[in-house]
Amino acid sequence: MNDDQFKISFLGGAGTVTGSKTLIEAGSKKVLIDCGLFQGLKELRHKNWESFPVDPHSIDELILTHAHLDHCGYLPLLVKNGFKGSVHCSEPTRQLAEIILLDSAKIQEEDAERATSHAYTKHGKAIPLYTVEDVHACMHNFVTHELHEWVILDPGLKFQFLNNGHILGSCFVDLRIKDRKIIFSGDIGRTKPMLLYPPQKISEANIIVMESTYGDRIHEVENVKEALLKVILETYEHRGVLMIPTFAVERAQELIYLLYLLNEEGKLPHMPVFLDSPMGINSTNVYRQFHEWQNLSHFNMSHMYEHVTFIHSVEKSRGTVFDKKPKIVLAGSGMMEGGRILHYMNNHLDNPKNTLLFVGYQGEGTRGRAILEGAKEIKFFGEYRKVRCQIRELSSLSAHGDQSEMIEWLKNFKSKPEYVFLNHGEPHQTDALRQKIEFELGWEVKIPKLNEGFIV
Ligand SMILES: [Zn+2]
Repeated sequence: MNDDQFKISFLGGAGTVTGSKTLIEAGSKKVLIDCGLFQGLKELRHKNWESFPVDPHSIDELILTHAHLDHCGYLPLLVKNGFKGSVHCSEPTRQLAEIILLDSAKIQEEDAERATSHAYTKHGKAIPLYTVEDVHACMHNFVTHELHEWVILDPGLKFQFLNNGHILGSCFVDLRIKDRKIIFSGDIGRTKPMLLYPPQKISEANIIVMESTYGDRIHEVENVKEALLKVILETYEHRGVLMIPTFAVERAQELIYLLYLLNEEGKLPHMPVFLDSPMGINSTNVYRQFHEWQNLSHFNMSHMYEHVTFIHSVEKSRGTVFDKKPKIVLAGSGMMEGGRILHYMNNHLDNPKNTLLFVGYQGEGTRGRAILEGAKEIKFFGEYRKVRCQIRELSSLSAHGDQSEMIEWLKNFKSKPEYVFLNHGEPHQTDALRQKIEFELGWEVKIPKLNEGFIV
């Protein structure tokens, strides 16, 4: 490697959609971009327990594109295992990451406790991957930056954050190594996000590292507000309860915004709206602080949450669960793998007058996916329950740009980059995007394997 070259290694998010971690070694500096948790299938989750491919002590800096767990969820462990550097991100990302990491730690602790009490483990007490205390410890490493603020890491090594429109606080990383420019896409948002500003257009780069989770998808076109209204009116006609399993970050706020607009237009029937999700409420409080990140009028920003009742306490939640009057409930978790939505299902799933509305991606193996695929019975709280309520889906809501939106974004680059790396996708997703890029732009694309490094 000569003085003008550096090494880029893909320590996660290669051949999979989780665990995003990209290491840059330039001169004597090591910089990690994102530090995601492997999620999903067991063999992937096992990777979180393996020793980290480079000594965490030796990494100097960490840059986070956004707060989703597949991009920041490994961080508490990296710090616990010796990483001493700064974690650079935007202020909304810091606040959302804390909420998301604490939730993750709680789940890890509960899983470990359950494993211990069921004696799944032969070694006595199961240990969690990390704890709430580990999360508190890693938060001390965070340093936040404004968009377009140049952060000097070393002579000849600097970066700035640019808006990428995916979730509140999410950014592209524009990294400069000497006179070369490397763009890390993170998860790219929609061309027209509902709440946020569109992804920043960039006209040149030497190297692009782009995520490809949605590389084989084209989002459906629907009038989402009208589609939502239709489901609401249908449920109201039956005097039913509308249950919406909701992701806490971005999706909850988008739905609240749609409901607010419908209410302003006088179209909402008399159905109270509840956000019954401690994590959803905490995330919403972050959204309410950062008007400048959102492409909404000041008036809308300050009024859109007024018609929603936030349910914090378990007692209040229980009361709302048992109440059979028509209402709209947004509750976590988004794929019904846990959280308060299960209590609503427990009480309302078996009644055809109620509706369960899916508004987001349902991963394989989740309860959400099973119901969406027509399961007539579903197991939770240790028993099988009949699914008799109405099942509906809004399929156009997404925080990810689809294939055509990603290609459009790439078309802003005026000349061919030296290298384009596609990461963070299942092989079929990445390959679909590779083919499209080669066809539309004539650029050659590299698809790194896990732990593969390139001298560039
Ligand atoms: Zn994301």
